[in-house]
Amino acid sequence: MERFFFLKYVLLQLLFFALLAGFLALFLRYPWATAKGLLGILLLAPIAWFFLSALHPAPIDKRCPKCSRPALVPLRKGAPIGVRCAECGFVDEEHSTAYLD
Ligand SMILES: [Zn+2]
Repeated sequence: MERFFFLKYVLLQLLFFALLAGFLALFLRYPWATAKGLLGILLLAPIAWFFLSALHPAPIDKRCPKCSRPALVPLRKGAPIGVRCAECGFVDEEHSTAYLD
């Protein structure tokens, strides 16, 4: 499996170049329609990004830095900093407790 690790990046680069070639072919065939489509994507992408971020926020990272299990809990209830791991006992007095409650 490790031997084929680079293959993913080779395939991604080939896919990127294929998309670029496809876009160039489309642009050469229909320049104004492609330019308008690209402008529409550029205008709508930030709005779509905003709504996606607001409606689907990132998952809360409760992974312990020592044992990597999702078991971080606040040291003291309501305190803004200080966490401990419920699995291995790891304690970090300066780690933020944001979203852990
Ligand atoms: Zn832990």
